[in-house]
Amino acid sequence: MNWLPVFLDLRCGEVLLVGGGELARAKLRILAAARARIRWHVTDGDHDLAGFDADAAARITFDARDPARIDLGGVVAVLCAGAGAVGVAVAARARALGVPVNVMDDLEHSTFISPAIVDRGDVVVAIGTGGASPVVARRVRERIEAALPARIGDLAGFVGRWRKSVHARISEFALRRRFWERVVDGPIGAAVLEGREDAAEAALRDIADPSAFAGGNDAGRAEGFVTLVGAGPGDPDLLTVKALRALQDADVVFHDELVSPAILDRARRDAARVPVGRRIGKPGIGQDAVNRLLIEAARAGRRAVRLKGGDPFVFGRGGEEVEALRAAGVAYAVVPGVTAALGAASSFEVPLTFRREAQRVTFLTAHRANDAARVDWTSLADLETTVVVYMGMTAASTIRDGMLAAGRSPKTPVGVFARVTRPDSQAATGVLEDLPELVRKIDGGPAILVIGDVVARSAPWRASVPARPSLLMAAE
Ligand code: SAH
Repeated sequence: MNWLPVFLDLRCGEVLLVGGGELARAKLRILAAARARIRWHVTDGDHDLAGFDADAAARITFDARDPARIDLGGVVAVLCAGAGAVGVAVAARARALGVPVNVMDDLEHSTFISPAIVDRGDVVVAIGTGGASPVVARRVRERIEAALPARIGDLAGFVGRWRKSVHARISEFALRRRFWERVVDGPIGAAVLEGREDAAEAALRDIADPSAFAGGNDAGRAEGFVTLVGAGPGDPDLLTVKALRALQDADVVFHDELVSPAILDRARRDAARVPVGRRIGKPGIGQDAVNRLLIEAARAGRRAVRLKGGDPFVFGRGGEEVEALRAAGVAYAVVPGVTAALGAASSFEVPLTFRREAQRVTFLTAHRANDAARVDWTSLADLETTVVVYMGMTAASTIRDGMLAAGRSPKTPVGVFARVTRPDSQAATGVLEDLPELVRKIDGGPAILVIGDVVARSAPWRASVPARPSLLMAAE
């Protein structure tokens, strides 16, 4: 390690900024964010402070003197950006006086370097590569940005505000640390991260005996909770950042059969994986049993993820599970996922809406003929409605007949899109009257049916031929 990372308090003195142009303005923004008092030697004559609020502007003063000669007393740091030879001259003086100085993109004349920053308020992460590669630092930053919850800074602030009063009530250091671990890792921390700070405040205030709370036997895990997570249609890269985080936090993952192994691979390595979903032709353990498993896991202090294909609230029975969790008083959260219709739309380039052609989208389920028989097809007669049918493979002829009876043309474009976003995805497109034959061309589900003029807009190389998996991959 050639450079020591430190966090400087810039409010105790003045920062000298030398330079001009966008480079200097970028520095100015970061210094303003750190609430520094800034003396700016503009080297290109442009004193414009547009884009800085009044509060920041009030802390910026301009200095027209020769920066290579001025007094550096009280200056806590010198930054040169876009300053050319003037910057180098100032740097030499600063170095001689032991004042920290950074000359942008010039390690030789710098005594400190600016890290890439992840800024979450009270939580700040600085990333350095010793000046070797800002691009690598930026990539590291992107990964950290993705891994850190957006409100992690709020959580630090929350703990900060309660620190003193908890300190006064728990004198022993180790116990205090356990207390905060339980707060941060448990439902109170989760509430802050979800933006429910009032609930978190109330819960913390309700802890009658902080020492007993801290002494809970399972180090911070006494109250578990359940996260319903939408896994998307199959491609693990379509998991949301929140979904990934929940998976990496989980003690146990209860998953549908539909969830692909590639996605389960993203769960924490030692998390238990429990398949609970049903499959066509194979009964699952039943919804009541699933609800019971989730509640029991949470009550045992575990962090349970209920992982579902697509989105939990689109034909995913997420509604029932949430009601059961609510009734049981178990803490839970819901993370959305990309639903199959949207996965198909993007991979096969079927815009579900299109100006003057498709003004509405309907998602419906027609699982087996008796479900399909319950659908009010007349409500789908409107030519400008794109109809997406989930679980509709076995009822294809009932669906066709219903749509025709409602008055949709036999020549309405339709598509059967199977295993969308997975490596073996497949499509067969044609017209409504041929729907059952199109379904037969598909080598197996899961698949959705899309009915409407927009299907004709699908990218021809993806869907005009009944694609075999090999063909599709060749096309990609
Ligand atoms: N909650 C899920 C839907 C569950 S119902 C979602 O939002 O997507 C199961 C049905 O979803 C399947 O019968 C099929 O119609 C559809 N489906 C799920 N994954 C799919 C995929 N990768 N490709 C095509 N259809 C899919």
